[in-house]
Amino acid sequence: MDEQKKCLRCGGSNMVAGSFQSTGLVYFKPKGAKVLTVHTSGVSVRALTCIDCGHVELEADPAKVKSLMK
Ligand SMILES: [Zn+2]
Repeated sequence: MDEQKKCLRCGGSNMVAGSFQSTGLVYFKPKGAKVLTVHTSGVSVRALTCIDCGHVELEADPAKVKSLMK
């Protein structure tokens, strides 16, 4: 991530970027999304963790989510 993100819980700036995984990448699927395959209807989820307090923040691309909504 290029921008400096602050922790939403403690306000610290020691955020570490990573992925939020199960046995593979995890995708966000908007409710009522167009019926497509998971590869096209899922929005990849990025994760940031604060190494001061442990807060995990998830982030999805809002433009991709909007494009999938009916
Ligand atoms: Zn924190």
